[in-house]
Amino acid sequence: MTHCIFCRIASGEIPSTVVYDDEHVVAFRDLNPHAPTHVLVVPRKHIATLNDLVPEDAELVGRMYLAAREVAHIDGVAESGYRTVFNCNADAGQTVFHLHMHVLGGRSMVWPPG
Ligand code: AMP
Repeated sequence: MTHCIFCRIASGEIPSTVVYDDEHVVAFRDLNPHAPTHVLVVPRKHIATLNDLVPEDAELVGRMYLAAREVAHIDGVAESGYRTVFNCNADAGQTVFHLHMHVLGGRSMVWPPG
């Protein structure tokens, strides 16, 4: 049994609020949202961090962005705007070591991020 929490969410073993899923990715609501829309897009394949991507994952990363686009339409933030973020390792604040894209929207945001 895997100990990776996002693998377990992707397989349905741990419940989550799924917004979108397909053969390659699952998008579910963050437990601790930082915006009205805060959804995590994860690949079903276990990849720990952005540093662990290999060239064969290029299509998968593209599919993660296509899923983010779906999420934005589903939540009605596509036109108002949204942000996509990958945190990689300690300085970026990564806490779960299964690749994930944050999709944040529904409020205006500041730049640069903290
Ligand atoms: P990061 O800090 O970039 O690694 O983001 C990890 C995110 O996962 C955080 O925003 C957490 O709130 C979120 N998170 C952790 N466990 C769960 C869970 N079981 N369901 C939904 N979101 C989670």
